[in-house]
Amino acid sequence: MGKKWTLSARHERRSPWLVRNVNNGRLRVKLRKTYIEITTACNLSCSFCGGTRRAPQFMDPALFARLLEQIKGISRHLYFHVMGEPLLHPQIGRFLDLCEPYGYKVHLITNGRLLSTAGPGLLKKPALTQVGVSLQSFEDTLSDGAMDSLLSTVRDFASRAAERGGLWVMFRLWNGGGGDPVRAGANARILRSLERVLALPAPLAAASGDKPVIKLTANLSLQFAPRFEWPDPSMPLVGDAGFCYGLRDQCAILVDGTVVPCCLDRNAVMDLGSAARSPLREILEGERADRIRKGFSRRNVVEDLCRRCTYRLRFDRLNSPPAISIGSSAGSSSAAGNRRTWGIQPS
Ligand code: SF4
Ligand code: SF4
Repeated sequence: MGKKWTLSARHERRSPWLVRNVNNGRLRVKLRKTYIEITTACNLSCSFCGGTRRAPQFMDPALFARLLEQIKGISRHLYFHVMGEPLLHPQIGRFLDLCEPYGYKVHLITNGRLLSTAGPGLLKKPALTQVGVSLQSFEDTLSDGAMDSLLSTVRDFASRAAERGGLWVMFRLWNGGGGDPVRAGANARILRSLERVLALPAPLAAASGDKPVIKLTANLSLQFAPRFEWPDPSMPLVGDAGFCYGLRDQCAILVDGTVVPCCLDRNAVMDLGSAARSPLREILEGERADRIRKGFSRRNVVEDLCRRCTYRLRFDRLNSPPAISIGSSAGSSSAAGNRRTWGIQPS
């Protein structure tokens, strides 16, 4: 039996996605998105990558099909990522086909290296809604010429996606801040390459101002976000007060079916259970998940990994969290939260 959940009227106005969580006073988890790690294998080894202690693996199609059944009614948006390069999965086309009858909207996050060969097939998959190309993976290895060539491939893919309709492409430069001159130089090089390839009339750095996203063409945009550190049990404690959207906005299902609260838990430190063995809803409404979610609602960071996670600090800048009232305890609510930078990706 689940516990009684209520929402304040103020909170209902500000967080409609949580209102849908409450069904006759009983918590029914509904998340904005579910990450599915379809592979841990990658064709790069970026210097900033957190990596994983788990072995390279590809998700079994039978498990993937079972997950689609289980996610029904929980999320509409699926993000094929946590670790690894999703375009390496030999069954990616089949996976996208399986998503279509359910009406899932699939977002792929890729380092772009396989887009020239995989792109034409992807365009034929109606379930695919967005392709995010991570630009920070360019900084380690690519010469200016190679960068121009790869960005041209993405540009051409975006233009064919515009003809297809319903498919957006996003360059992600999640590498800002920190005052590191080397990184700033690398970012400037990436932006100059984009300016060349897209024949932009003005420098991107000037055009962006402090906007998190700028639109480049009808269906192509560029997103900026600060660089983040992968949380790890070996990192120093940050504190036990704060908020995060893990299990409120998203969960992640790793390649073997292990469910974790967010896409930063790359080593399954917060293993909530296996969706290969138990229903996902049971796991998301289980005791450990419940403690984490309720903890964040009270600005109480329950899990050790979360106490060491610096990513969540960005949410502390936003007044108080969108709290929910649990049982009879009063919950205050405010601040919709900076959802623009949520959606952590490793590449
Ligand atoms: S605090 Fe960090 S580790 Fe914990 S759920 Fe949020 S992003 Fe994940
Ligand atoms: S950051 Fe992404 S692209 Fe780079 S090695 Fe890690 S998983 Fe691969």
